[in-house]
Amino acid sequence: MKDIFCKIIDGEIPSTVVYEDDDVLAILDISQVTKGHTLVMPKAHYSSILDCPKETMHKVYDVAQRIGQAMQGVLGAKGVNILTNAGEVSGQSVPHFHVHVIPRYMGGEGGFQITLKGQDTSNMNLPLLASSIHNGIK
Ligand code: AMP
Repeated sequence: MKDIFCKIIDGEIPSTVVYEDDDVLAILDISQVTKGHTLVMPKAHYSSILDCPKETMHKVYDVAQRIGQAMQGVLGAKGVNILTNAGEVSGQSVPHFHVHVIPRYMGGEGGFQITLKGQDTSNMNLPLLASSIHNGIK
């Protein structure tokens, strides 16, 4: 079954288009966490960043960067959050790779808040952890 973004890409569901080229579509997020909140996605279907080919991923992030720059210039954003969720456990609700570009105007506005709260690492073997991840890199 097609996910909702595939349906938007195929023109079966309406969207508010911010940018489009042969490979990439950017639309306003229906929920507008802050004013201008945009989703950038490849037109080809990939579940998340983790299964997206590099060339396509680079095209998506290129557009995300340019949209972030436009938000600074046109909307007066003071900064942006650019983020992607990969997998349900991370909060991904639509299983089609997309990058959120969320303009920030003052900090703490809208419904957006990220808190990266560290945990006690005294009982973790950080060098071992780092080398395990390192050894898994392909
Ligand atoms: P995520 O939770 O990272 O998968 O983000 C999915 C995003 O898609 C949410 O922020 C939703 O508000 C947004 N969304 C869902 N349906 C639509 C739609 N039809 N048009 C635009 N944005 C949508």
